Amino acid sequence: MNSWLRYGAPGALRKAGTFIGNIIWPPTSPLTGRRVAASGLLEPECWQCLHFLDPPWCETCGVPFAFPVGAGAECGACIARQPVIHKARAALVYADQSRRLVLDFKHGGRLDALDQMTAWMVRAGPDVLDGSSALIPVPLHPTRLFSRRFNQSQLLARAISARTGIPVESGWLLRRRRTPSQAGQTGRGRRRNVAGAFALTAAGDIALAGMTVTLIDDVMTTGATFEACAKPLLRAGAQCVNALSLARVVKPVDPTT
Ligand SMILES: [Zn+2]
Repeated sequence: MNSWLRYGAPGALRKAGTFIGNIIWPPTSPLTGRRVAASGLLEPECWQCLHFLDPPWCETCGVPFAFPVGAGAECGACIARQPVIHKARAALVYADQSRRLVLDFKHGGRLDALDQMTAWMVRAGPDVLDGSSALIPVPLHPTRLFSRRFNQSQLLARAISARTGIPVESGWLLRRRRTPSQAGQTGRGRRRNVAGAFALTAAGDIALAGMTVTLIDDVMTTGATFEACAKPLLRAGAQCVNALSLARVVKPVDPTT
């Protein structure tokens, strides 16, 4: 159905829009394109194709461990290089089917799975959402926002806010330069690519002192973008910066190596 109609209108108007929209545009599965009973639903067999992240995982970056090693354990990467992000969590491993969900959402403007996707994020995110005073979506550069028409991270943040009551602060952080694609780059290359790309607004500079906040994005690959966002927030006095993404690139970690 027309997702802009569904997510752009409140209350009764939204329900009426959904009803009419379902007649004009019968709902289809976000993954297979087959007809489904309601907008955003996945067929049962599709759930098997999605790899949901669960503990055991690194207490800090959330990378899954191959086996339990006790509460609070960190992966080797986090021990070797103290991360800027206090804690990072994600709902899904970024792989074939979740990649399709993300790309259809981000580049195809397909928003009918937004409720479902953010339910998964909230389920994965108590460690980073509890105690957080604000959700800060990773900003797009204005030219990219103009061409895409929406910031996918902001839509995710708004939907998480509706579920948790944590306010969205999309006016505190801005992207001051358009960064080249991160595809194919190493972690170090990605960090160089986005270094200094984000800056605080005057409102963010005033508000952040002592706050715990959670950055929101669709995909975390190496964490370089989250780190680049977190640095100005921490410089402005934020006490703690967490991160929550819909999906993340994962290589399972053996915590004993
Ligand atoms: Zn880690």
